[in-house]
Amino acid sequence: MYVLKEDSEPPSVWARLAAFHLWLGSLDASASGVAGEVRVTPKQATRRLAEGRSLLQWEDLAVDWGQFQQWASTVLTSISRHFPTLAGAAMDAQAVLRDTVMLQRVVRASYEGRSVPQAATSGRESKALGDVLQIAAKAVLRPCLCVQREKLLPLVPIGQWRRGICPVCGGFPDLAYLERELGARWLVCGRCDAQWVFQRLECPYCQCTNQERLSYGTDPTGRYRVYFCDECHSYLKSLDLRTGLAEMDAAAQRMETLDLDRQARQKGFISPESLASLVARAVMPRRPKLSH
Ligand SMILES: [Zn+2]
Ligand SMILES: [Zn+2]
Repeated sequence: MYVLKEDSEPPSVWARLAAFHLWLGSLDASASGVAGEVRVTPKQATRRLAEGRSLLQWEDLAVDWGQFQQWASTVLTSISRHFPTLAGAAMDAQAVLRDTVMLQRVVRASYEGRSVPQAATSGRESKALGDVLQIAAKAVLRPCLCVQREKLLPLVPIGQWRRGICPVCGGFPDLAYLERELGARWLVCGRCDAQWVFQRLECPYCQCTNQERLSYGTDPTGRYRVYFCDECHSYLKSLDLRTGLAEMDAAAQRMETLDLDRQARQKGFISPESLASLVARAVMPRRPKLSH
C-alpha cells in the first residue's frame, strides 16, 4: 500500500484542468434539457441485461447532430481558452467536425470505445488532434448519456450486473466508492454517472484478479484510495464513505481529487474513461516512466 501525498501546489495545468471541469459542468447543465428521448423499453432492457449487454446501444441514441455540432464547437473553443498549447489542434478539430459525417464517425467511435477514425486526423499536422477530438466527443455525449441514465438505471436490479463496464452505456468507471454500511465497492461510470456494485478485488478495466498485480494507495486522511493495476496500467480513484464523507457526488469528487490523477499519472498509470487523464495526455504527451 502506498501513501499518497496530500498536497503540493498542483502545476498550473492541473489548476486549468479544474477550471475546465467546472466549465464542462455548466455545459452539462445547459445541455441536459435538449439531450434526446429515451427509446429503450423495459422489455428490451431485461433482455439485454440477461445477455450481458449494456442497455443503451448506439442505435438507441436519438442524437440531434446540428446540436452536437454546436456543442462540439463550444467545447473546442473552451479547450483553446483553457489550454493554449492545444489551440492549434482545437482549430483543426473545428474543421474536422464541421463535416457532419465525420462528426458522426468520431462520436460513434468514442461511444463504442474505439479510437478516433484515421480519416479524421490524416493530413493534419497537430499531434494532439486525436486526443482533442476524443475530448470533444466525450463532452458532447455526456449530457445525452446522463439523461438516458436517469431513465434507464432504475431498470437495472441492484447487484445483478457485476461487470467492469457500465450497465447503461457500456463506458468504464472513472470513480469508485466503498459504501458506508457493508463496505461494498461501487463503480461510477465516467460517461453517464451510473453506479453499480463490483468486486473489490478485481480490476474493472482488464478483469485481472491476481492480487500480486493489484494494489492501492491511500491519502493521509484515509478517505481516498487509488487502485492500481499492473496488468493494464490503469488506476481508479475511490472514496471510502466509511470514513464519514457524505454521499458520493461524482461531479464534485472528480474535480476535488485531481491531485490524485496527477500523482497516478506520475507513476505512469492512466484512467481509461477519465476526461482529466485524457486532457493531461493531450497537454503533456510524454508518458512518464513507471516508478512503481
Ligand atoms: Zn454509463
Ligand atoms: Zn487492469
